[in-house]
Amino acid sequence: MTITNEIGWKFDNSYESLPDLFFSKIKVNPVESPKLIVLNESVANMLGLSVDALQGNAGVEVFAGNNVPEGGSGIAQAYAGHQFGNFTMLGDGRALLVGEQISPNGERYDIQLKGSGRTPYSRGGDGRATLGPMLREYIISEAMHGLGIPTTRSLAVVTTGEDVLREGLLPGAIMSRVASSHLRFGTFQFATQWGDMEKLHALADYAMKRHSPELDEGDYLGLFRKVMERQAELIARWQLVGFIHGVMNTDNMTISGETIDYGPCAFMDEYDPATVFSSIDVQGRYSYENQPRIGGWNLARFAEALVPLLDPEQERAVELAQEQLYEFSNLYKAHWLAGMRAKLGLFGEESSDEALVQGLLDIMKENKADFTNTFRELTLGKLGEKPEFQEWHSKWQERLGRQPESAEAVRELMQKSNPSVIARNHRVEAALEAAVEHGNYGVMENLVKVLQNPYAYTDEQEDYCVAPGSSVTAGYRTYCGT
Ligand code: AMP
Ligand code: MG
Repeated sequence: MTITNEIGWKFDNSYESLPDLFFSKIKVNPVESPKLIVLNESVANMLGLSVDALQGNAGVEVFAGNNVPEGGSGIAQAYAGHQFGNFTMLGDGRALLVGEQISPNGERYDIQLKGSGRTPYSRGGDGRATLGPMLREYIISEAMHGLGIPTTRSLAVVTTGEDVLREGLLPGAIMSRVASSHLRFGTFQFATQWGDMEKLHALADYAMKRHSPELDEGDYLGLFRKVMERQAELIARWQLVGFIHGVMNTDNMTISGETIDYGPCAFMDEYDPATVFSSIDVQGRYSYENQPRIGGWNLARFAEALVPLLDPEQERAVELAQEQLYEFSNLYKAHWLAGMRAKLGLFGEESSDEALVQGLLDIMKENKADFTNTFRELTLGKLGEKPEFQEWHSKWQERLGRQPESAEAVRELMQKSNPSVIARNHRVEAALEAAVEHGNYGVMENLVKVLQNPYAYTDEQEDYCVAPGSSVTAGYRTYCGT
């Protein structure tokens, strides 16, 4: 159904055409006194929604989950997933799909509330979320978008006026998340485990129509390939900016290739491949250096879920999936190396480039160099001044000397490949503390503004480039978005 109205909702809820097994209709769980904390005007514009109307009562009631607009969806989605390696039934335990909005340029976006109350998939949870983690997701997803990395985005955050019990009582909040879809590896795992062939077919056909319409009907191996390509590129992009997702469970991996579920994620300051931020990740399963390998592991679980569709003969189906999977590490590596070449201003390809990159990373590790600032200084022509980098710097200069491109072209390539600002933990924490403890949202707004243009290298940004002392980063822990 298509509706036009004051806010500009234009829904077309395609997910509901899937078999009932894949979702549950939700009765709303109204909250006492919702208040709009942030509204992302650029996302509202992208969706064709009126900023003025969204700021009014009708908008806030939707963001609070008090009212699903006419023509909206109002469902929670079912999915399963491997959490830290263990397979389990999950589903939207605290989320509600408001609807699929068709944007002015014809794109389809899920608008989903996070923290909107209990659903049939809540298990023991309260279905709620708190202000700090919702604002954290807002900040970091905007930072990712600014970096040009595929990601879900946040349209708005509201407080609910209700307290939520966690370590103590914390202010409740609901975030409106925008995604090109919420189809996950875990949605397929759910279909294979608890559905039947017909339902798995329906899901795969739906995913293809939504994300890979160029594929031939029934080309499920093609679907796998597309998803694998997106993940290879996505994870390479994370590595290139020092982003650590923190919970790469299969329910947090999208078919669309967008980064989703900003829980205990963070950007690395000092370069150390073993960095892990999440307090629950005691084994370091999702450390920085493990992300590509885990990406492959997750894809293997996705492939397993698709096996029944690939060939009527199971052995042959597994063989087909395996052949594709073997290519993941090469695909990843190619994206990573191309990205690293760009970070170093290298246009062509020389066989020794990878060793050159590794040489730099080794020195960075040994000297606990700041990841972002090392590449920033390289871009600004300042790295050679540091004694520990001098020898490497001469090699790099020789390599640059062997390519025809001008110094200006090199600098330009480096500037657009090396962000000068990232969402540094100490900055994010300061913004959250001001917001949550003191109701001061200005610190966050300024931070988000800077993060929207991370490649700008302007003077006003200088202040945000300062790395924290190692005493600040040592032992930094992030907690799951509860
Ligand atoms: P996440 O760690 O956010 O990816 O969530 C993993 C699973 O736990 C998902 O099924 C969530 O819906 C569910 N979940 C997380 N927090 C809550 C909560 N407060 N109440 C109910 N379910 C939750
Ligand atoms: Mg999740």
